[in-house]
Amino acid sequence: MNQQSPILNYIDNTWQESLTENLLDVTNPATGEVLSRVPLSPSREVGQAVTCASNALAEWRRTPPVERIQYLFKLKNLLEENIDDISETITMESGKTVAEAKGEMRRAIENVEVACGIPTLMQGTNLEDIASGIDEFMIRQPVGVCAVIAPFNFPGMITFWFLPYAIACGNTFIVKPSEKVPLTMQKIFQLLEQTGLPNGVVNLINGGRETVDAILEHPEIRAISFVGSTPTAKAIYAKAAAHGKRVQCQGGAKNPLIVLPDADPEFTTNATAESAFGCAGQRCLAASLAFAVGNAQQWFPKAISEIATNRVVGNGLDEEVEMGPVITNDSRKRIEGLIQNGIDEGARVIVDGRYPNISGGEHGNFIRPTVLGDLNPEGEIANTEIFGPVLGLIHVETIDDAIQLINSGQYGNMACLFTSSGASARKFRYEAQIGNVGINIGVAAPMAFFPFSGWKDSFFGDLHGQSWDAVDFFTQKKVVVERWN
Ligand code: NAD
Repeated sequence: MNQQSPILNYIDNTWQESLTENLLDVTNPATGEVLSRVPLSPSREVGQAVTCASNALAEWRRTPPVERIQYLFKLKNLLEENIDDISETITMESGKTVAEAKGEMRRAIENVEVACGIPTLMQGTNLEDIASGIDEFMIRQPVGVCAVIAPFNFPGMITFWFLPYAIACGNTFIVKPSEKVPLTMQKIFQLLEQTGLPNGVVNLINGGRETVDAILEHPEIRAISFVGSTPTAKAIYAKAAAHGKRVQCQGGAKNPLIVLPDADPEFTTNATAESAFGCAGQRCLAASLAFAVGNAQQWFPKAISEIATNRVVGNGLDEEVEMGPVITNDSRKRIEGLIQNGIDEGARVIVDGRYPNISGGEHGNFIRPTVLGDLNPEGEIANTEIFGPVLGLIHVETIDDAIQLINSGQYGNMACLFTSSGASARKFRYEAQIGNVGINIGVAAPMAFFPFSGWKDSFFGDLHGQSWDAVDFFTQKKVVVERWN
């Protein structure tokens, strides 16, 4: 399949063209070129996928875990062999640089590796003689048909926070990628096909809101994993729960960094720039606010502004490019509007990245790194997820002031501290009401063998993606109390 082929669904190990006439263009954000058309699959096609996933369940669940993971070993090798091709597709449809896309796929592969440990991870517990001659066991069994609804910003990785664990635990699975970036999953499902997984174990259904509603309403889907913006996460959490499903929803963010006066200036500035401007600020772990504490104000705003000004922006396929475009023209306009609102609220423009001249990027959704100073902590720009390459600066006197502002925020996805003081680091780690904490780290992304945390309005549910949380989410516990006289 080449980039121009129509986007297909993959149901029961067969590539199928949706019968809908409702299709959207898939556009390269760097060039404006239409790459393909994505179908908004209707509920009857979701129903077909669920029927096939349900039919596959009985045999897949009886396949021993040690055999189930053999498909994952094959998948790992196929992903390694095809990482360049997949990464280029990620760049073409999402705009990030090829280096960023490869980093994303490395994280995807790490989750496959961790899920290969299922024969150990899925073990239960037992205790002999809970009473005289009576033994008790806790066994983990699969939940059933499970589904993921994914966002646009990591077209490859995010499905892997869930899929490898779900199928290794004996569930069957349905993937609904973002309609903005459906090409990457076409490639990944071609590799899943090559692993020889039995019919119906993994299924791909493309679409938008109607497709999601059909997934949420289908009685045979037992568990939903969602990653996306907070309003959608909240709505999906409520609707999936109302339909009696197990559900985990990771939402949006407004991630702050604290820069203490004793931080290493060069290291801190580089790490901040990578966090705020990497992936054009479209990571759920992108830094969006920086609190310069005390004397850090004397060096930090100037240093970060220099890096912002010099960052090389363009088409992510060019090797020298450090930052690509944002996902759509609407996103670009929204970000430009938010910058203007910030200025109207009294923010000082230090670096203005709006309306740049990018050679060859006349039809792309480009916006350069932007730095705004003296933000009003109560204002819109300091509290809204921008999801673009915009860093807002706030000067505070103490670490306590910064922690208090962080803890009063709506979100709790990530916060980072830059310091050379162990005592400050401990205080921050202890007091921050945040799910992913970085100490001298700009993007505190958990490895696959830790849960991808997130608190407050950044997460709805209790079990997160990846690692032990994923194993808990994709298994139900059965307790057996046994006596043989
Ligand atoms: P989005 O919420 O617009 O879309 C996510 C998915 O939900 C897509 O598959 C989309 O088709 C579907 N969807 C959108 N609106 C819907 C509706 N009203 N009803 C049903 N389904 C709907 O998110 P996005 O713009 O694709 O992704 C960016 C967002 O995701 C950001 O807010 C970012 O912070 C967040 N994100 C969070 C994490 C995390 O781990 N917390 C990771 C990545 C991205």
